[in-house]
Amino acid sequence: MSEATTRCGFVAVIGAPNVGKSTLVNRLVGTKVSIVSPKVQTTRARIVGIGISGDTQIAFLDLPGVFAPKRRLDRAMVDAAWRGAVDADETLLLVDATRGIDANTDAILTGLAERKIEPVLAINKIDAVKRTALLGLAADLNARATFAATFMVSATTGDGTEALMQHLIGRMPEGPWLYPADQPTDMSERLLAAEVTREQVFLQLHQELPYSVAVETEKWEDFDDGSARIEQVIYVQRDGQRKIVIGEKGARIKAIGAGARKELAAILDRKIHLFLHVKVAEDWSEKRDFYRAWGLEYDV
Ligand code: GDP
Ligand code: MG
Repeated sequence: MSEATTRCGFVAVIGAPNVGKSTLVNRLVGTKVSIVSPKVQTTRARIVGIGISGDTQIAFLDLPGVFAPKRRLDRAMVDAAWRGAVDADETLLLVDATRGIDANTDAILTGLAERKIEPVLAINKIDAVKRTALLGLAADLNARATFAATFMVSATTGDGTEALMQHLIGRMPEGPWLYPADQPTDMSERLLAAEVTREQVFLQLHQELPYSVAVETEKWEDFDDGSARIEQVIYVQRDGQRKIVIGEKGARIKAIGAGARKELAAILDRKIHLFLHVKVAEDWSEKRDFYRAWGLEYDV
């Protein structure tokens, strides 16, 4: 396609933790690029999901939820979210219909106004609330801030998401595509594979443990029959956590491996042999290399 007829741009997806940003990005991209769990702060880095419709390519920045940061990793995540919003062509603000304007969303609205960003508003999870409550929330939000447009969607069912996509497409600037047509994310397969294993940790382990875990793909071997052998390390911060991740007679690590292997095989459409090791690395969240690998700023 010639440059004159194509459009391409960045849409930053911003919102409180757990409003469904990653679920929506996966839906708009059409394949899973970002991991999802019922727990807050599942997304740690700035994940790029690339959606295409007609002659338009949109790179969605699935950003970590914005919240009051305490630890270094939290600060880096909030920093990544605001940088994403400032750099993007458009910002999509996602609000959870079941939670309304909570303290997090309120702080984001203030932050957007300070940065003179006028976002497109999408109220998500409309499958989970009554229609009357929805209209009240839309009115409250529009009284609180000015939006380029308001959409009501369900990232889970897909309700309303195509109209939102078409609206965003219309807002993208003319220009050449920045990514190959067959590339749904800018993440390497090694990082994506690490994320898929971390998703299982978020789904299968509880309390503070998921937040103490980092996953790294250490080895990746491709075979002639199309399969791949992947070796990963799950880093925890204390020996007690290592025992929990491994589980009774290795049952938990086996279940995490089985879940991740199944998910990866589906995403990559090939047979996967996955080998997991659990190691204690007390200070992984203070190491510069970790931040660099995920495109996060260390000193914020
Ligand atoms: P994020 O933290 O904003 O990226 O949120 P996630 O995409 O990880 O989703 C958080 C939780 O909300 C998960 O349990 C999702 O399954 C759930 N969720 C996301 N979108 C919807 C939706 O449209 N409807 C309902 N009922 N749940 C949703
Ligand atoms: Mg997320």
